[in-house]
Amino acid sequence: MSATLRFQVVGEAFKKHPVEVSSPTERPSEFFAKYVFTRQKMKHYLPSDIYQKMIDVMDNGATLDLKTADAVAAGMKRWAMELGATHITHWFQPLTEGTAEKHDGFVEHDGQGGMVEEFTGKQLVQQEPDASSFPSGGIRSTFEARGYSAWDPASPVFVMGDTLMIPTVFIAYTGEALDYKAPLKKALHAVDKAATDVARYFYPNVKKVITNLGWEQEYFLVDEGLYAARPDLLMTGRTLLGHQSAKNQQMDDHYFGSIPERVVAFMKDLEIQALELGIPCKTRHNEAAPNQFELAPIFEETNLAVDHNMLLMLLMKRVARKHGFRCLLHEKPFAGINGSGKHNNWSLTTNTGILLHAPGKTQLDNLRFITFIVETLMAVWKHNGLLKASIVSATNAHRLGGNEAPPAIISSFLGRQLTDVLEHMEQATDDQIPFASKQEFNLGVPQIPEILIDNTDRNRTSPFAFTGNRFEFRAVGAEANCASAMIALNAAVAEALIDFKARVDARVADGTELLKAVLMVVREDIKACKPIHFDGNGYSEEWKREAARRGLDVEASCPLVIDRYLDKNSIEMFAKTGVFNRAELEARNEIKWDTYTKKIQIEARIFGDLCLNHIIPVATRYQSQLIDNVHKLKEIFDADTAQHLSQDNLSLIKQISEHTSYITTHVQRLIDARRVANRIESEREKAIAYHDTVAPIMEEVRYHVDKLELIIDDELWPLPKYREILFIR
Ligand code: ADP
Ligand code: MG
Repeated sequence: MSATLRFQVVGEAFKKHPVEVSSPTERPSEFFAKYVFTRQKMKHYLPSDIYQKMIDVMDNGATLDLKTADAVAAGMKRWAMELGATHITHWFQPLTEGTAEKHDGFVEHDGQGGMVEEFTGKQLVQQEPDASSFPSGGIRSTFEARGYSAWDPASPVFVMGDTLMIPTVFIAYTGEALDYKAPLKKALHAVDKAATDVARYFYPNVKKVITNLGWEQEYFLVDEGLYAARPDLLMTGRTLLGHQSAKNQQMDDHYFGSIPERVVAFMKDLEIQALELGIPCKTRHNEAAPNQFELAPIFEETNLAVDHNMLLMLLMKRVARKHGFRCLLHEKPFAGINGSGKHNNWSLTTNTGILLHAPGKTQLDNLRFITFIVETLMAVWKHNGLLKASIVSATNAHRLGGNEAPPAIISSFLGRQLTDVLEHMEQATDDQIPFASKQEFNLGVPQIPEILIDNTDRNRTSPFAFTGNRFEFRAVGAEANCASAMIALNAAVAEALIDFKARVDARVADGTELLKAVLMVVREDIKACKPIHFDGNGYSEEWKREAARRGLDVEASCPLVIDRYLDKNSIEMFAKTGVFNRAELEARNEIKWDTYTKKIQIEARIFGDLCLNHIIPVATRYQSQLIDNVHKLKEIFDADTAQHLSQDNLSLIKQISEHTSYITTHVQRLIDARRVANRIESEREKAIAYHDTVAPIMEEVRYHVDKLELIIDDELWPLPKYREILFIR
């Protein structure tokens, strides 16, 4: 873009007015889930015996026969067509980013030369999208199998635009998962079973344990015109160049600040559309960085919450464009200011209450609370490296380890009170914990104070913090599918609970009274999982050393962190919980390394282009102007005066030369490094080469480009600057 054009675009951005959003006349409670085939609508559109069968399928996992599916499809079609739907799609979450969909019209030949609208049970339940273009990590070629998508009745279908969207899992014919949803459902099933078994020690009536997820989605908004003028933002989602703005977040004036009018209009529009699709949006506010915002819904059952997050990310991008914005979900769109994450608030609930909720009125409730806390910590301790692997990516790597958001070491914050309770339990001698009878026993801990519930911590440096009735997994990236983190966490907790139960049952078999056995194993585990507990400053250098001493995983290189999926520990855990087999883990890792490589490869290409074709020519042009000026001074002044007056320009000419020659040389080095890396066969080794030899060169060169930005005539600079992009008016 020419400089003149740049000023036009910046000028336009400042003149923009909010898009009018028509407010619905109904209240949110009235239009909530307007486009969702809810149970209420099922009841209305399905024959009552079919409705009952569907409830059994959704609540108890009963199998769906084709006759029922046909009847359900007929009802769905009637409902969807009333809303103007003409197409259906199986909506799934392949191992690329985002979601995938292929639309089919309802139309079918009627046999008499005309058309009828048709939608069968078979179409609803299973389809074969041409899966060959989705990443499979070699699973399909190895097993020569095709992929199919299958309806997930636990997540309701919905209408978006003219399309009936059917949430599905995506699997190879041989059964291996090719998506996020299939393993997520397995992990949720595993934790349900394991947690129900343990919860029954305390409350025999527990039938089911549900995992909840409440995500908090951070994002940036930038003006569409400015976005279009930055090839790096356009192609990679982040700025690869750009000097910091004089003012950015140092005044702390953005966080919770009043929201600009244009942004409020966007948020309102987004919320209405999200609520209509059944996403229970609740909170919105400015985040710490300029132009950064957050949206959080009320928490939901995890499978549904994941679908809703994927849907929301889709909506955000669409609605933003209507308002002349682009929504950036990249974890680090701008250097030097905070990036975006997606806190995952996680908890377990039974049909009788929240398991991580403290405190109970009785000692039994307290022991239940401590048991689930400690076994969660056991899972996080045992699989801290894996949990990190579940949230790393080429893009999230910019947040982790930078002095913001969570560090690249997983630890858990518990807060003073919970720490005291655990310490007390650990240190008490057995005779301080007497057991009178099954009903009446003493934990040896003082009643856990009521205040614990409200003691939500503000230690923002902890990647996995206990916040009253839930854990908050804060290391998840803004752009990520939450399922990745939720698969690892829930499977790990399931394993910890299975293991816990085995040890308790063994003691009971030896004649120990049940609750005493529970208490003994809990005390054992409080000691064992201690290394994961850390309430201090997660950003400090000292913590890095201390964490290594404690045996926590301190690896920060993304391709190496991904290795944790193939640790013996992880393979065993995923096998035991039935979530992944080894072949699946290996295949998925191939995809992860490949994705990492491609991300850096694309960045490096764009970066080289920006440097050589946008920056260097402009720097050279400005330098020529300066040289011209030096010559002209010589024409009108005597040699000494001209020399004196040219000093500053001569120094600038020299600086520009130094920077441009550094840039030219090292962009060539970048190209060479890529060439070497591209020849490597193994996906893992190639990703490591990209991490070690390609990515760092971009950082080094960027420094020089950003210096040039400070020197060169603003009028010539070809790219919108941070100060222009980052302050919506
Ligand atoms: P904060 O910024 O203080 O963490 P927010 O209100 O932004 O708080 O987000 C809190 C998130 O946690 C919301 O999505 C909320 O629904 C969710 N949440 C609250 N209680 C639970 C719970 N028991 N289990 C899971 N998520 C929860
Ligand atoms: Mg939070």
